[in-house]
Amino acid sequence: MLMPKPSDLFFSTQTPLGNERGIRVTWLGTAGFTIEYEEHCLLLDPYLTRASLSRCVWTRLRSDGELARRLVPRADAIVLSHTHFDHALDAPSIARQTGARVYGSRSAIHLCRSHGVSEAQLECVEPTSGSRASETEVGPFRMRFWPSAHSAFLFGRVPFPGDIADCSDVPLRTGAYRCGAVFGTEIEVAGRRLFHVGSAELVETGWNVGPVDLALACVAGWTTTERYPERLMSALSPGAVLLHHWDNFLRRIEEEAHALPGMRFAKLIDRLQTTAPNLPVGALPLLGSIRL
Ligand SMILES: [Zn+2]
Repeated sequence: MLMPKPSDLFFSTQTPLGNERGIRVTWLGTAGFTIEYEEHCLLLDPYLTRASLSRCVWTRLRSDGELARRLVPRADAIVLSHTHFDHALDAPSIARQTGARVYGSRSAIHLCRSHGVSEAQLECVEPTSGSRASETEVGPFRMRFWPSAHSAFLFGRVPFPGDIADCSDVPLRTGAYRCGAVFGTEIEVAGRRLFHVGSAELVETGWNVGPVDLALACVAGWTTTERYPERLMSALSPGAVLLHHWDNFLRRIEEEAHALPGMRFAKLIDRLQTTAPNLPVGALPLLGSIRL
């Protein structure tokens, strides 16, 4: 099989997925999405700043608030699947600018608090024991946060493990963005169900999710996760799969997305379609949208 380029995999941004209900899903690069319905907007792992390699290595990371204001001028809620910098860096500045509530782990709450987000906007959804999902409703969005895990892609390890504690020494360096607890997020809106997998790993044994209309599936790290495509299919029975977190996030968001090395799209799609040969699997250009 020829190795597909990401642009070969783009969903049509004109044609809705299934019977359209007026939901718009926009990819923000990495694991980031906006999900819009009527006048409401939910953000998942919005990382827009896309700091350069030299900034990531040598400096403390600062959110580009102006860029965030331009690209996501409003939001009702921000969900953080975990608190690595490429998921969480921009959440505090977006929360401050939009007034959005932030849902995430204890690490996410510490991170936002230390960056001046008001206490009233913060909601910890990390379970204190067991694996039951926390639930919440924001406008038309009903969400469940299923405890999950991060892929151990770095020589069998999760990069920057552990939690972010209360931190006064902000801004933080890359390595201070500890992973924290990880969630898969189930979202119901306008009779449609979506599921966001922010890192290419699942802890699906405790999940009770059933068929979703659209799985937002992380690609980076998938090859080191045991049976990732098969387990994703079995846990979510998705009607379609939108691939994300395959892009080189050291490049600016205004540039064309380039795939990270080793994403193995053809193999991934092949294995996702083993049990569902007609399953739509695709990607989006940076800031591209699909409707469903
Ligand atoms: Zn991560």
